[in-house]
Amino acid sequence: MYNVAIIGAGIGGLLAGASLAKQGKKVIIIEKMPYLGGRFTNLPYKGFQLSTGAVHLIPHGNRGPLAQFLQRLGLSVKIEDCKPWCTFRIRGKDYLINDVSDFNPIINLFPLIDRLRMAKILFEVKLLGLPSNEITLEEWLKNQVKDELAVKIANAFYGFALSLHINSIPAGEGILILKRVNDCKGSGVPIGGCKSIIDSLVKFIELQGGKILTKAKVVGVDIDNENITKLHVESDQISEVSANFVISDIGAKETVELVGEKYFDKNYLQKVESISPSAGVKINIASKKSFFKNGILFTPDCQRIGGLIELTTIDPSLAPQGQNLIISHQPLLSTDIKKEIEIGLEDLKSLIPSFDQDCEILLIQSYHNGWPVNRAASGLDIGSVTPLKNLFLVGDSVKEPGWIDTEGVASGVEQILEYLSKIFY
Ligand SMILES: Cc1cc2nc3c(=O)[nH]c(=O)nc-3n(C[C@H](O)[C@H](O)[C@H](O)COP(=O)(O)OP(=O)(O)OC[C@H]3O[C@@H](n4cnc5c(N)ncnc54)[C@H](O)[C@@H]3O)c2cc1C
Repeated sequence: MYNVAIIGAGIGGLLAGASLAKQGKKVIIIEKMPYLGGRFTNLPYKGFQLSTGAVHLIPHGNRGPLAQFLQRLGLSVKIEDCKPWCTFRIRGKDYLINDVSDFNPIINLFPLIDRLRMAKILFEVKLLGLPSNEITLEEWLKNQVKDELAVKIANAFYGFALSLHINSIPAGEGILILKRVNDCKGSGVPIGGCKSIIDSLVKFIELQGGKILTKAKVVGVDIDNENITKLHVESDQISEVSANFVISDIGAKETVELVGEKYFDKNYLQKVESISPSAGVKINIASKKSFFKNGILFTPDCQRIGGLIELTTIDPSLAPQGQNLIISHQPLLSTDIKKEIEIGLEDLKSLIPSFDQDCEILLIQSYHNGWPVNRAASGLDIGSVTPLKNLFLVGDSVKEPGWIDTEGVASGVEQILEYLSKIFY
């Protein structure tokens, strides 16, 4: 009998497993794939370290919830901060951002009336707090600033960071995300890519006596008196697992499907139904030439690509010697994936005029349905506690408000572990 069984070894499941194993709990993590890390690990390809999902970025670098979580565990993963925080390429000119004041030259591109309105917005947010989540960020922004450059800049940032158009981001959540970006001062790249974090978590869990299974799929559960009493597992190693409590990292909808809808009340099912994922396209490019030396480049003038990063300027080990790895990201704005990719490629050719001569497309990856960018688009996350007494959720359908991607996953795990420590131990 285990204290905790965790379904899924994505970053959410592994962070939860590592913390609980450190507390001395008997932990088992059950992963259906032959590899660990879910959408946050490396995918070796032609000597390059591509990834199963993430762009190899830690959104808030060494100062965000993920890095702090790893530090509390005592793990020494090296996260190299992006310097500058980022760059915006607007009308062919690069604006390097190392601090909030570096936005001034961008703000000066706006007509005087819009600049005055921006000052008013800043004042109102400071004085009155965040705007309502009842309206979209697009509505809110367009109500205040009239020049369409504002929408383009916002779409580049949120398209790259969240894989969302601003017409689907609640205004309050969007501004809270910006506040966090400003508080944490830029992103970072884990040296060795996402897998370096996954490997150190796995090693840590095993050293603490935790058990991790791969090629083991949880296919059903037994329930008694609103408690999961047994997990049924398809694998060569084990067929069932019993634990005092169960943490699911496979997504809220997927967890409800696995357990069976009849065990959840109507309110909860409605909440889960209201979650929609964010979808995106990532283009992995190899080049002997270096094009983007200044960290994350946001590209407001592109039709689809929100931004890109030449990762090898920060971690050369992600590509064979003498080669550069550039990764672009764009939100998937229609169901015509082929067309969305074509538009992304047009964007790349406008950013790199010698694209056809100097670049090789390594791999184009699209993320949607069961393998999305985030299982809950920002602002749509639900809480980790479920109607079943010993079942809890972690991962990117239960991120904490205002925290994006793995930062949201890490802060969600932190919250639920604090809750569990109060009710169980
Ligand atoms: C294109 C793209 C770019 C991104 N860029 C970044 C970035 O640069 N930085 C960042 O922080 N985040 C980024 N993200 C988001 C980040 O990858 C995710 O938020 C994060 O990986 C989600 O982790 P998770 O643990 O919630 O889920 P997952 O990684 O999906 O883990 C869930 C695991 O559960 C397993 N599983 C499912 N069902 C079962 C079952 N029945 N039995 C056993 N196992 C099961 C799955 O195989 C999987 O391994 C990006 C995502 C994408 C797609």
